[in-house]
Amino acid sequence: MQKDLKSMTINEVAALTAARGYKKFHAGYIFDFVHKKQVCDIADITPLPKPMRQDLIEQSYYISSLRVEKKLRDRDGTVKYLFALEDGLAIESVLISEQGRRTLCISTQVGCAMGCAFCATAKLKIQRNLTAGEIVDQLYKVEQNGPAVTNVVYMGMGEAMLNYDAVMSSVRILNDSKGRNLGARRITISTCGIIPCIKRLGDEDIQPRLAVSLNAPTGQLRGKIMPVNKKYPLRELMQAVKSYQSKTGNRVTFEYVMIKDFNETSAHAEMLGKLIKGIKCNVNLIEYNPHPGCQMRPAERKSIERFSKLLTDKGIETTVRLKKGSGIKAACGQLGAEMLINKTLPAEQQ
Ligand code: SF4
Repeated sequence: MQKDLKSMTINEVAALTAARGYKKFHAGYIFDFVHKKQVCDIADITPLPKPMRQDLIEQSYYISSLRVEKKLRDRDGTVKYLFALEDGLAIESVLISEQGRRTLCISTQVGCAMGCAFCATAKLKIQRNLTAGEIVDQLYKVEQNGPAVTNVVYMGMGEAMLNYDAVMSSVRILNDSKGRNLGARRITISTCGIIPCIKRLGDEDIQPRLAVSLNAPTGQLRGKIMPVNKKYPLRELMQAVKSYQSKTGNRVTFEYVMIKDFNETSAHAEMLGKLIKGIKCNVNLIEYNPHPGCQMRPAERKSIERFSKLLTDKGIETTVRLKKGSGIKAACGQLGAEMLINKTLPAEQQ
């Protein structure tokens, strides 16, 4: 079986080179050529002696590479990338530019098993986890096609915490000063509420930001749109977030998709305020983005504004995220929508 150098952290590359009897600095060459110079062929790691490159190839090492299949630009400047994976599956990433930031929303799985009712990716079901190499390569390929990305959010297709090891390897790789050197505080991992992994994240020696997709102020309401609430109830989730915060001191982001006639009233805002009271956090109110096969409708903008004001008046930092990229189905909750429309699903899902 082939082993991907792009999925390896610097420590893993160092362990490999030590095991093959190479010098320590050879690990630095490999990491630099894979993650900084972004070569796609071991033969191109030219500082390594030829026999060493040959040895790696004979040991079935290689460097994976995503292929940009499609690049769509919305009128608001949002760009969606459709990447083909080496096994023929596909994922999407979205680049959002605003106020001098270029934030890349990346995928961690092909499809998703979590079944959130408001999300197109859920309809794809889960195909497989991405490797760390496939996760970091989304950033590399986007930057090869445009200016540098300033922030990365793990909020694309998939539940990042269910691919925890590869996700954390990718965070280490992106953060490594010998590679892309992206600050950990510029990386956000989003979860729908996988409690054991929130606890695990709190124990890591590297601390990306944590975002929790909340979407309702009570467990009863949340359970109607997020099946995860059954296994990890809201009350326990909030306890896990509090423990994470007391351990790390990190501010947490709560995401709240605003859905008409569901979670948008003043009473909901009051309950949400109570639920997150005492947690150092900010709330992102996300305008719901419709997609085929889903009857939900976005809350009116005046409802979003009222909701936002109620939270702000309670001293809760609140940001409203209006639809971006909806013209190219790149908005939050829409990733994979085009695959559904075009039926570019793997055969068994069609
Ligand atoms: S919102 Fe996230 S966790 Fe929920 S189904 Fe969509 S991709 Fe999965």
